Amino acid sequence: MRPEPPPVRQLSKAQYDGWACCWCGKGLLDAKGTVSAGISRGSSGVHVLDIEVYACADCAVTPERSNFQEER
Ligand SMILES: [Zn+2]
Repeated sequence: MRPEPPPVRQLSKAQYDGWACCWCGKGLLDAKGTVSAGISRGSSGVHVLDIEVYACADCAVTPERSNFQEER
C-alpha cells in the first residue's frame, strides 16, 4: 500500500508536467531512480485532469514502496 499522490490542485506546474517530484518538488530532469508515484486526481469544470506523477528516488525509497522500482 502506497500513499496517493497529492491532488492535481496541489501540484505545481512542474509537478503536473512530470518535471518535479510530486512529494518534495525536487527537479527530476537529471535525477536517477525516478519512479511513478501513481495518478494524481483532479478536475477543472467538466475536464478531468488526472495525470501520472513522479517521485524522486529519495521519496520513492520507503519499505512500503520497495516493490515498485520503475526506472524512468
Ligand atoms: Zn522527492
